Amino acid sequence: MMKTPWSLRTLAAQALGRIDAATRGLVPPIHVTTTFLRDPDNQYRSGNIYGRADNETVREAEAVIAALEGAEAAMVLGSGMSAATAVFLALAPGEHVVVPRVMYWALRNWLLTDAVHWGLNVETVDTSDLDALRAAVRPGKTTLVWLETPANPLWTLTDIAAAAEIAHAAGARLVVDSTCATPLLTRPLSLGADIVMHAATKYLNGHSDVIAGALATATPDAFWARIERNRSMLGQILGPLEAFLLLRGMRTLPVRVQAACTSAMELATRFANHPDVATVLYPGLPSHPGHDIARRQMQGGFGGMLSLRVRGGEAAAVATAAGVELWKRATSLGGVESLIEHRASIEGSGSPCPPDLLRLSVGIEDPSDLYADLDQALRQAHP
Ligand SMILES: *Cc1c(COP(=O)(O)O)cnc(C)c1O
Repeated sequence: MMKTPWSLRTLAAQALGRIDAATRGLVPPIHVTTTFLRDPDNQYRSGNIYGRADNETVREAEAVIAALEGAEAAMVLGSGMSAATAVFLALAPGEHVVVPRVMYWALRNWLLTDAVHWGLNVETVDTSDLDALRAAVRPGKTTLVWLETPANPLWTLTDIAAAAEIAHAAGARLVVDSTCATPLLTRPLSLGADIVMHAATKYLNGHSDVIAGALATATPDAFWARIERNRSMLGQILGPLEAFLLLRGMRTLPVRVQAACTSAMELATRFANHPDVATVLYPGLPSHPGHDIARRQMQGGFGGMLSLRVRGGEAAAVATAAGVELWKRATSLGGVESLIEHRASIEGSGSPCPPDLLRLSVGIEDPSDLYADLDQALRQAHP
């Protein structure tokens, strides 16, 4: 991988500084071919055979992600869910995995219904409680520990280095969903994780116009090769047009993340003193249970995600979301536009999400405008 002295911001801005060899273009062409010419003796010396496994635009996006994560190898897939499920599908039925009790809801849902049905032995635990994690991991039996930090929708922090020690002592791999931290704030591989996963749909692309997933690893071993084979065999691939948009989006990742962090910190601080807000959940606030870990584990900011627990319960939370104009009522996160969501409504029954919780994804708008809009919605919902 890249062994240059440039900072992540510099690497990202120029997408590693590559120049198109054929035209000297600063922006790479989009490679759309699905098939490649064989040599006269029937060989494929270019290394490219067929578009499902071989695409240069996809490889360029992977090279940027590998550089950002300090990884030896990266893989992009058709969605965050395909990246996550690809990891679990590379295990064998019967294997024991430990996953967080509170995590991205669709993955939890898949693990506890489909993956269990397929034969995976899935155990949920509060991964932020290291004693509980230690008790759940079975030496010689557990093969994978999954973390999400900060985790949806309470922004729970888990100590990655400590979890890596626990997982490795038991002979298990550690995989971290680092979607909300982004490679700018936390680099899980440097803390001992074996694989880092991103819903690239979110911050990496950043413009709410691509569904994509990514994995990166420090050690492209046999397990990694199995995931890669599955991607091709199950067709969990990202198309070249999406890969190009992702490449373009990542050029501004550091400036977008910086803006979101600064605004989220400002909004968290101001709403913590708001009469209609019971609690602000944000890792940057000293009152947050994960604040100390966040200070050690996140560099340059505490992320763009926070949640408000609104006074007056579920009805007041829903009424607040109904009263915004600038914030957009929508699911997802990590885009340039700010989103607000009554999370319990989307997660449905069985969700650990409190009913009075509004999840906020802070974009790059002026934070004063974001405060004013949500402030008036809160006041309108609390006459
Ligand atoms: C969105 C998200 C996912 C799933 O990503 P998709 O691209 O929507 O499939 C996984 N984990 C986290 C933390 C997410 O926010």
